[in-house]
Amino acid sequence: MNAKQIREVKSLLSKPKNIVIVTHWSPDGDAIGSSLGLYNYLIKKDHKITVVTPNDYPAFLYWMKGNSKVLDFQKKIKSAKNAVAKADLIFCLDFNSLKRIDKLGDEVSKSPAIKFIIDHHLQPDDFAKYMLHSTEACSTCELVFDFIQLMGDKKLMDKDIANCLYTGIMTDTGSFRYPSTTAKTHRITAELIDAGAENGEIHNRIYDTSTEKRLKLLGFCLDEKLIVLPEYRTAFFNISDAELKRYNYQKGDTEGVVNFALGIEGIRFAAFFAERDGIIKVSFRSKGSFDVNKFSRANFSGGGHANAAGGMSELSLKKTIEKFVALLPEYKKQLLSKK
Ligand code: 5GP
Ligand code: MN
Repeated sequence: MNAKQIREVKSLLSKPKNIVIVTHWSPDGDAIGSSLGLYNYLIKKDHKITVVTPNDYPAFLYWMKGNSKVLDFQKKIKSAKNAVAKADLIFCLDFNSLKRIDKLGDEVSKSPAIKFIIDHHLQPDDFAKYMLHSTEACSTCELVFDFIQLMGDKKLMDKDIANCLYTGIMTDTGSFRYPSTTAKTHRITAELIDAGAENGEIHNRIYDTSTEKRLKLLGFCLDEKLIVLPEYRTAFFNISDAELKRYNYQKGDTEGVVNFALGIEGIRFAAFFAERDGIIKVSFRSKGSFDVNKFSRANFSGGGHANAAGGMSELSLKKTIEKFVALLPEYKKQLLSKK
């Protein structure tokens, strides 16, 4: 956003508007944290706001202020369509392409509303009038913090906004571990804690609310479902629908499992393949220069960031794994590179 655009957006937001906030399919901590952080900020400016998600999200994110008002497009299709059609302004948070919001994307593209992207994923599509976009930002929550500051509204920061933004920063940085965590990230985090973010408590709500079955599912993945290919510095998990059912799978239960594969010395490329609703959902993670955004775009209809991306496959689980393993020789040079 340049200075002129900042002035325009300030002026747009200076009078009450109908605003819709949408975020990506299968929302994570950053998607919900940024959406509800922005929601809690904009209600203070007297706008009418509806947050719409394409589908449901893990229960460990339900505690954020405003959560009970979120419309799940799959369950509240009529009221969600209505809000999108009536909106003056639509904020698109934590995604770079309308494909990422499934059928909700058709509604957003049909709506005459002014669109605004706040996002940190690579290669954003050009569908918005305004963009606050940086791939350097550790999270969309970091950019929502910047946005509030750009609007000259830091004085409006309160505990509810701070709790939401802290959550997305914490989850997208792997609790301040990934290289995306910068000095700026820590400065913003400190300001959020000053504003009342309950940092220790948030950690408990997100990470220490697993069911016993979820931990056992993790144990099963680590013990029986991990395949390590040291010759490609690659390790991956794959899990079938039946196996997930055996552990009473709930949304979010396999989040983070892929990172365990990167915890093996020497491994720099990790993947997690899960069979769900007839398709294979894939998560990719890497360390160093191996670009999983490119890998996923080229082979698994997905994308994301250079070190964390997602994708999908319509082949069977077995065929998907065969395809993945068969691709590795082509990438061997990059996988073994020293960088
Ligand atoms: P996860 O593996 O946790 O689902 O996703 C990792 C990162 O990649 C997240 O930032 C997520 O938003 C992004 N991502 C996941 N799936 C897709 C996809 O299919 N397309 C794109 N462009 N990004 C994705
Ligand atoms: Mn994010």
